[in-house]
Amino acid sequence: MVTSLSLVYSAAAVRRMIGDRFPVVRVEKWWKVCLVVFRGCRPRFMSRQAFLKHFVEWRKAQARALQVTRRLGSSHCFSVRNQSKGSVYEVQTFIGGLSCSCEDFQNQIQFFGRACCKHGYAVLGHLGFETLSDYIEQRQE
Ligand SMILES: [Zn+2]
Repeated sequence: MVTSLSLVYSAAAVRRMIGDRFPVVRVEKWWKVCLVVFRGCRPRFMSRQAFLKHFVEWRKAQARALQVTRRLGSSHCFSVRNQSKGSVYEVQTFIGGLSCSCEDFQNQIQFFGRACCKHGYAVLGHLGFETLSDYIEQRQE
C-alpha cells in the first residue's frame, strides 16, 4: 500500500540515490532528516531535501524516454506512451496545472494535494517547460 511516507521516503529511493550494497530495513522521517536503517550496516541520516529532490529528478529522468502526442483537435490533451511497457496515459493541461490518469499522479494528489508524474513532466518538456511552476506561471499571464 502506498502512503505519503512511502511515496517519497522509500527504500527504493534510497537504493537509487546511494546504491544497494546493504538492504534497507526501513526509512524513518524525522524533522529535517530521515534515518535510514540498513541490514548489516550502521544506520545513517539522509536529508529530507535529498529525498524531495530525488522524487522530482527521478520522474524527470524517466520522462525523457516517453513519447508525447497531442490529441487531434485538442490543444490541451496529450497521450503519453511508454514504448518499453506498451502503456499509454492521458495528460490534460489547464490553467494552474495538469492532470494524468496514472496511479502515481492520483497518489500524489491524494497525499500532497498537488502532483506531477513522469507523464506530466514529459508533456511539460514537450511544451518547452522545465518545471510545473514555470508552466503555471506562464499560463497565468
Ligand atoms: Zn502520469
